[in-house]
Amino acid sequence: PMSLTNKTALVTGSSRGIGRATARQLAAKGALVAVHYADNEAAARETVETIENDGGRAFPVRAELGTTGGVHELFLGLEQGLKERTGETTLDILVNNAGVTTPAGVAPEDVTPEDFDRLFAVNVRAPFFIVQRALGLLPEGGRIINISSGLTRFASPDQVAYSMTKGAVEQITLHFARHLAPRGITVNSVAPGITNNGSAVFDIPEAVEQMAQFSAFKRVGEAVDVADVVTFLATGEARWITGAFIDATGGTLLG
Ligand code: NDP
Repeated sequence: PMSLTNKTALVTGSSRGIGRATARQLAAKGALVAVHYADNEAAARETVETIENDGGRAFPVRAELGTTGGVHELFLGLEQGLKERTGETTLDILVNNAGVTTPAGVAPEDVTPEDFDRLFAVNVRAPFFIVQRALGLLPEGGRIINISSGLTRFASPDQVAYSMTKGAVEQITLHFARHLAPRGITVNSVAPGITNNGSAVFDIPEAVEQMAQFSAFKRVGEAVDVADVVTFLATGEARWITGAFIDATGGTLLG
């Protein structure tokens, strides 16, 4: 049997990018995956269809995070979807992936309080309350994986506010790893480097060539490169790893 057979998973922000690849890899190992999205319903449907065409199981859940009631809406959809398909609401694997980024960057001088609050609302406040809300659904042996960024260890002034949110995400990992260890639940952070998420900049060869130089392997990451690391952490074989920062930057932090 596949290693995640009879497991259920929620991947936030899995309509596109790293989240989509993660949903696919978890489903390929047998998990039933809740494909969460905010706006891009067509993309979420496409993720679900791809999974189903590969013989996997998935369903879409819409919720706008960073708004009042967003986490509540997410769990209403999640619990209903799980109940319809499994008869219960057990959630084995939670991947906090949804995030807002500042791809082009904003000079530290130009960060506005509104930008700052939005970044923290989506990237920090939402995952914290998602974890809090998931506590009642996670069984013994459950998994929480929080998507951070190599930028918590690589100075990039134009992304200071974004990077601060990822520093906070890593604190969720540290403290909840301790809190949930008695229940056999692991909590880890995975830090991608520059990863092709399908956005327009990855269609510009010169831009890709420049971005590739950050990795020790001299290429940009593909979403599945990160998804495979996340998926390993979700398996039983990763039971002895908790509270960890997993560098999935393709060697970007080697200097
Ligand atoms: P994308 O921008 O490609 O996709 C973002 C996903 O999150 C989409 O599914 C989107 O849903 C969802 N989302 C965004 N905002 C909200 C919101 N307010 N409420 C609910 N859902 C939302 O992301 P990436 O794949 O690039 O990144 C995934 C994670 O990896 C993020 O946490 C990011 O910070 C991190 N990361 C990415 C790197 C990269 O180079 N790509 C590098 C380092 C870290 P919808 O499409 O429906 O709006």
